[in-house]
Amino acid sequence: QKAEWAKLVHEQTTTKDGEHVELAANIGNPEDLKGVLENGGEGVGLYRTEFLYMGRTQLPTEEEQFAAFKAVLEGMEGKPVVIRTLDIGGDKELPYLDLPKEMNPFLGFRAIRLCLEMQDMFRVQLRALLRASIYGNLKIMFPMIATLDEFRSAKALLEQEKQKLLSEGQQVAGKIELGIMVEIPSTAILADQFAKEVDFFSIGTNDLIQYTMAADRMNQRVSYLYQPYSPSILRLVKMVIDAAHAEGKWAGMCGEMAGDETAIPLLLGLGLDEFSMSATSILKARSQILRLSKTEMKNLAEKALQMKTTDEVIEAVKETIK
Ligand code: PEP
Ligand code: MG
Repeated sequence: QKAEWAKLVHEQTTTKDGEHVELAANIGNPEDLKGVLENGGEGVGLYRTEFLYMGRTQLPTEEEQFAAFKAVLEGMEGKPVVIRTLDIGGDKELPYLDLPKEMNPFLGFRAIRLCLEMQDMFRVQLRALLRASIYGNLKIMFPMIATLDEFRSAKALLEQEKQKLLSEGQQVAGKIELGIMVEIPSTAILADQFAKEVDFFSIGTNDLIQYTMAADRMNQRVSYLYQPYSPSILRLVKMVIDAAHAEGKWAGMCGEMAGDETAIPLLLGLGLDEFSMSATSILKARSQILRLSKTEMKNLAEKALQMKTTDEVIEAVKETIK
C-alpha cells in the first residue's frame, strides 16, 4: 500500500468525476518542509507559528521570524503557504509572558485576543510576515476569531505595519490573502457576514468541536462528546463552506478532521476546497479521494446532514465507501 501511495507524490488530487481539491500540510517549523514535499503536499495550509515562541526564555525577534517565514515560503516554491499568527494560550503556555493562571484557559485570554491586547508583540510578527511576503505565495490567517470587530482590528494593524514598511522603503507583496480560522461557533454561524470581508476560511475543527460540544479537547472523561461526524458539526461546516462560496471565496480545513478517512468523503461532498493535514496523511488521503466521486459524496453529505446521531453518519459513510 505504501508503495502505491508513493506513486502519487506528483499527482494532482482529482476525484473520479474530475473535481480538484487541494491537499496541504500542517507544519510547526521550517524543518517540516522536507516531509511536506516528500509527501506531495500541494501547499502549507497551516503553519503554527507558536512554536517560534515556545521552548525559549524570551520573544523571538522580527529577524528570527522573518528568517523562518522566508525559509518556508522559498521552500514551497510559489505554492500557497498559510501562516497563522500567534495562537498562544489555552493548552500552549509561554512562561516568559508571565500571564495570570485562568480558570478556563480554553475560554480565556489566548490567540488573537492576546495579540490584539499585546500589540507591540503582535506588530513584530506582522512586520516579519509582510517582509517575508515577497518570497512566495503567502496567505495570512488569524486564529480564534469570534467577532468581525476582532478581524477588522487585526487587519487594521496589519495595514498599519504595511504602510510603515513601505514608507521605510521595504518591499511587501502587492496581494496577500487574509483569512481567518473558523473554530468558534459564533464565527461559523455568522460566516455569511465574515465571507464578505475575508479572503478565505480555514475551519479549525479541533477547537470548533470542543466549543460546539462544550467538551474540553484535553479531557478524557468527556472525550465521548468529541464527535467530528456529528450532524451538528457537519451543519456548521456546511454553513462555512456555503458562505465562502456565495462570496467567491475558498474554504479549507486544518483541524485533524481534514485528514480523517471517515470525514474526507463527507467533506468532499460538502464542497471543501482545501484539506490541510499532517504531511504523513497526504498520500493516503489522495489515494482515497482519487477513488471517490464528488457527486456521490454530495448525496452522502446531504443525507448525513439530515441524520440524528454520529453513529448513523458513520454507518452511512461506511456503507457508501466500502
Ligand atoms: C484547530 O483548532 O482545529 C486547529 C487547527 O488549531 P490548533 O489545533 O492549533 O488549536
Ligand atoms: Mg485551534
